Amino acid sequence: MRIVLVGPPGAGKGTQAAFLARNLSIPHISTGDLFRANISRQTELGKLAKSYMDAGNLVPDEVTIAMAKDRMEQPDAENGFLLDGFPRNVSQAEALDELLEAENMQLDAVLDLEVPEDEVVKRIAGRRICRNDSSHVFHVTYKQPAKDGVCDVCGGELYQRDDDSEETVRTRLEVYHTQTEPIIDYYKAQGLVVTISALGKVEDVTTRAMEALKRGGDGK
Ligand code: ADP
Ligand code: AMP
Repeated sequence: MRIVLVGPPGAGKGTQAAFLARNLSIPHISTGDLFRANISRQTELGKLAKSYMDAGNLVPDEVTIAMAKDRMEQPDAENGFLLDGFPRNVSQAEALDELLEAENMQLDAVLDLEVPEDEVVKRIAGRRICRNDSSHVFHVTYKQPAKDGVCDVCGGELYQRDDDSEETVRTRLEVYHTQTEPIIDYYKAQGLVVTISALGKVEDVTTRAMEALKRGGDGK
């Protein structure tokens, strides 16, 4: 399956993607995680991306699309993938359609995670991620690690993302509403959107998501 996950920052896309990717045997591709891995490795791409990320803005399309394309072309993504955080505006969605069309492929569904803004703010404020791998995600109250400040998965140090500060979160939410939300209508026109509530326990949201994906897109 080829799936796009969409929802505001802090909705739980990464958290759900980890379970869904395992259940569906497809790789979880997060452009945010790819950028953070580049920042850790201090690559040129990482240096460029950091300045945009720290301000809560989108990294320019050209580099983002090239990075996503490169990842989607890896052998493990041959039979499907779960995109998390990409596309994030209509131009990226159009670029993705072109990439898929060139390979005679199409998306199966766009899973839209709905969470009220006050809950998203609480989720982001308490989010802690692992220095070794930013896909290892915890929360100070909702998903506490067994040992304070230590990643349950790999023992790495947990820290708060630079862009999870209150001020940057405001910008990121605005960017979501103005630039990312329009992709939901773009995909609705293709009949691909499945919307679920992402409130409640992580495992309940996963069950809801799996059932919704089985039902498929809401139609045009
Ligand atoms: P996103 O990838 O959409 O930005 P994350 O998956 O990183 O969001 O989740 C944001 C924060 O909310 C994390 O700290 C995560 O542990 C927490 N979280 C995710 N899903 C839930 C849930 N269903 N209930 C409570 N907290 C959650
Ligand atoms: P995320 O981990 O998905 O919350 O993304 C963190 C940050 O990475 C975003 O606020 C953007 O600055 C950048 N980013 C991630 N994905 C994209 C994308 N598809 N387009 C542009 N910027 C992105």
